[in-house]
Parts: sequence; C-alpha cells; structure tokens
Amino acid sequence: MGSNTSVLLQVDIQAISSETGFTHNQIKRLYGRFTSMDKDTKGYLTKQDLMLIPELHVNPLRDRIIEVLIEDHGKNGKLNFRQFSQVFATFRRGKNHQNQQRENSNGETSTNEPNSKESKLRFLFRIYDRDKDERINKSELLSILNMLVGQNLPEDQMNALAERTIAELVTENEMQNAITYKKFCETLSKIDIEDKMSMKFLS
Ligand code: CA
Repeated sequence: MGSNTSVLLQVDIQAISSETGFTHNQIKRLYGRFTSMDKDTKGYLTKQDLMLIPELHVNPLRDRIIEVLIEDHGKNGKLNFRQFSQVFATFRRGKNHQNQQRENSNGETSTNEPNSKESKLRFLFRIYDRDKDERINKSELLSILNMLVGQNLPEDQMNALAERTIAELVTENEMQNAITYKKFCETLSKIDIEDKMSMKFLS
C-alpha cells in the first residue's frame, strides 16, 4: 500500500485521526479502501463508487444509506477522503477516547465523539427524515417500509402499518402527525445501537 498512502500527507493523517479517533494505521488502511473504490483516481467517491461497498450489498436500505452518505456528508455528489473518514468514524468500534458528556439545548446528553450512541442514532434518523424537519412523517416511514418489506406486504397493509406505527408513537398533544427524534430514540432505547451499528469496516 506504500505508494497508495504516499499522497496522504502526515498532516492530513494527524488531522483526521484527531477528528475521528482512528489510529494512523487504521487511517492508512481506510485510505487503501477509499482508493480501491475510487476507480478512476478522481480523489472522491460518487454514488456509483459507494454501490461497490460489499458490506452494503445485502442491506435493503443500501440506496438510502448511500444517499445519506453523499448528500449529508459529501458535497455536490462527491465524498472526499476526509468526509469518508468522518462518516465511517460513526461506526468505529471501540471506546471513545474521552467520555466527556455534555447536555445540548434540549437537555439530551451527547458526546463529542463521532462514534457515540447519539451520532449513530442521528445517522439512523437521517435515513428516515430526508426533508430534515426533525420528524418522520407517514410518507417517509412508508418509503422505508417499502424498502424493508415492500415485496412481502400489499400496499393497503403497508399503509395500515405506517398509520399504526405513527399512532403508537405520536402523542395527542403533538401538533404534527409525525415521529420526533426524541420519540425515535426512546423507541430504539431497548436496542443495543452501539453494537448493531458498529461494523468491522477495516479488516
Ligand atoms: Ca421529515
């Protein structure tokens, strides 16, 4: 990989390491993967390049995940190595190198770490909330349900499922008929997100 990493300057490695928590060696390996996906040596990845990530091949939400990667983490349909490292840091296994927690304006506890539970939940929420209004409405939920079980469930049942889910999760005093981020997190609180959303991207 020597020639691969020679263009990755030590100063970049240092900056990316402090942003992501990846070690220098992990960053070099990540760069190896990045360049192997960047077929035409463009210096960035496109939607087509990201389609080649084998870890995503069996994921029914692959297209949506790639959309989040490119649109929310990249710029103009391109994801450069720094952006790529930052987003994959969300799924980095292992302890945070600092455990300083702070409260945000909503009183929710979060950490600055890219692989915190908060970061993972945010990423997951964005897979649903594509209009970024901080709520998951019925059509956003339906679009995910279609990807997950679309071929196995008739449209009217799918519709009923979406309505039932929203009815269960939205309390009457909430103005809009949509699932808030807070409720989304509460719903997922029984699931070990830290484990489910960590992946061994680096072999
Ligand atoms: Ca929304």
